[in-house]
Amino acid sequence: MKRVLLLLPTASYRNEAFLAAGKKLDIEIITAADYCHQLAPAWGLEPIMALDFDRPGEAIDTVLHSLKHQPDAVLAVDDSGLELAALLNERLNLAANPPSAVRRLRDKLAFRQMQREHGFPCPDFHHLPSAADPTMLLAKIKWPTVVKARRLSASRGVIRADDAGKYLTAVNRVRTIQAKADRDAGELGLVIEQFIPGHEYALEGLLENGQLTTLALFDKPDPLDGPYFEETLYVTPSRLSEPRQQQIQRSVQCACRAAGLVTGPVHAEMRVNCEGVWLLEVAARSIGGLCGTALTHALGMTLEELILRQALGRPVGLSALRAGAGVMMIPIPRRGIYLGVRNLESAIQLPGISGIRITAQPGQIIAPPPEGASYLGFIFSLCASAAEAELALRLAHAQLTFDIQPEHALNASAAGSFRG
Ligand code: ADP
Repeated sequence: MKRVLLLLPTASYRNEAFLAAGKKLDIEIITAADYCHQLAPAWGLEPIMALDFDRPGEAIDTVLHSLKHQPDAVLAVDDSGLELAALLNERLNLAANPPSAVRRLRDKLAFRQMQREHGFPCPDFHHLPSAADPTMLLAKIKWPTVVKARRLSASRGVIRADDAGKYLTAVNRVRTIQAKADRDAGELGLVIEQFIPGHEYALEGLLENGQLTTLALFDKPDPLDGPYFEETLYVTPSRLSEPRQQQIQRSVQCACRAAGLVTGPVHAEMRVNCEGVWLLEVAARSIGGLCGTALTHALGMTLEELILRQALGRPVGLSALRAGAGVMMIPIPRRGIYLGVRNLESAIQLPGISGIRITAQPGQIIAPPPEGASYLGFIFSLCASAAEAELALRLAHAQLTFDIQPEHALNASAAGSFRG
């Protein structure tokens, strides 16, 4: 029986999907989590150890001491465990991406530096160290600009600024967000980069011996012009022209090669305009949240199963199905306490809707980006074409009404209802 060590983050949407895939494939799963194992939720499996994923250099020894048997692969379920998984694979002599490549891609500054070194399309960018006075960059910045935290995800701590005043406000706000979210915030500083106009896309791929196969290219049909960049719709197959799609695939392949990535899932985000393809991010992981569910039909298996199969060297036969599929990350209309959702049953019945998962819990404080990094939930569609899949998502979202109470409301009458 093959054995896989899974690094499970507390807040991941995908723990259950990985555990289910492990069961289906008859794999022994050992888990390590970034929460106290005494308080571990009922996954059916208790993590054998609790670790700080953001201190991979220290966590690695804890893991090596606790392991009773050598695993055949170490996989991170989400972004936060990637560096630790890479270090463990290296120490255990398992085929995987080098830790330096994974680390470089998780750091938005290092990624931009790599693009510049290799002559890849890249916006003008600057590093603003933590203690530095932001006015020192004013003479160099071209407007509009984007202020971003160096190592956060899901558009957390990313703000567009159109002039000096908005830039200074954005720097203060992003510094506060980064300081709360990242223990290393003091050393990281921010990235300030030129705003890239254009439409946005996301590529989901798989690397095998350094060779990239595209599993799906998603269009993001809602404009993402800021000042905050909340993700909403992902729809596949892309309606971009074939040459453009190939250009995107080549750009991502080149970036993987330059970074030193050789195997496993790849998730990349890019903007496309008349000047070409501008990569925003290439990560050594699969798509986040529950979005990968939108690919189950096309892949003929869950994305998690595909990742486990590849990690264990089992055959991964890709299906040629190309139905329209989409997912909406249900945006959070405003900060507050989530109370509940109405009209869920009627939204699920709509043509083309293949599922709705509300992941926010009643009583939970929710916030949109740039402070928040989660969604109200996910709507999935499966239709004959991408256009129909997009429309189905919009119609289902319009049916839903979310009840959100301001955090400091004195009574429930202050609660607001938000139609999707
Ligand atoms: P994260 O890893 O948090 O998603 P990104 O750097 O990918 O951070 O930025 C999040 C979103 O912000 C992007 O998907 C894009 O919509 C927007 N964005 C980031 N940088 C730029 C830029 N230079 N120009 C235009 N939009 C940007």
